Amino acid sequence: MSDCIFCKIAAGQIPSRKVYEDDDVLAFHDIHPVAPVHFMLIPKRHVDSLAECDDSHRDVLAKIMLLAPKLAREQGLADGFRTVINTGRGGGQEVFHLHVHVIGGNGPRPL
Ligand code: 5GP
Ligand code: ZN
Repeated sequence: MSDCIFCKIAAGQIPSRKVYEDDDVLAFHDIHPVAPVHFMLIPKRHVDSLAECDDSHRDVLAKIMLLAPKLAREQGLADGFRTVINTGRGGGQEVFHLHVHVIGGNGPRPL
C-alpha cells in the first residue's frame, strides 16, 4: 500500500502531530480539525476500512477502542467525546486506511 497516506504517516515518512504510538497503533491529530480536539487512531498494518476487517484485526480493534477514552481524557475531554468511523464511499470515507476519529471539546451535538 505504498500510496496510502496513513501508511506513510505510520512509517514516519509524512510528519504528523502524534498523540500516542505503540507497535500496532498510532494516534495523531487531524490536519483539518472539526473541533478543539480531533485526533485519529489507526492500526499501523494497512486495512482499507472497517468493512475489510476480519478475525485477524480483533486485537488491534479492541486496543484502539480501549485507547480512545484514555487518550481522549489525556487530551482534556473529561466530559466526553464522539467517535466516528466513516466506512466506504457511501459512508463518507476519504482516506482508505481504517481510522477512528475522536472528536470533542465543543459541547454536545446531535448525530
Ligand atoms: P475520513 O473522511 O476518511 O473519515 O477522514 C479522513 C481524515 O483524514 C480527514 O478528517 C482529514 O482531515 C484527515 N487527513 C487527510 N490527510 C491528512 C494528513 O496528511 N495528515 C493528517 N494529520 N490528517 C489528514
Ligand atoms: Zn495504509
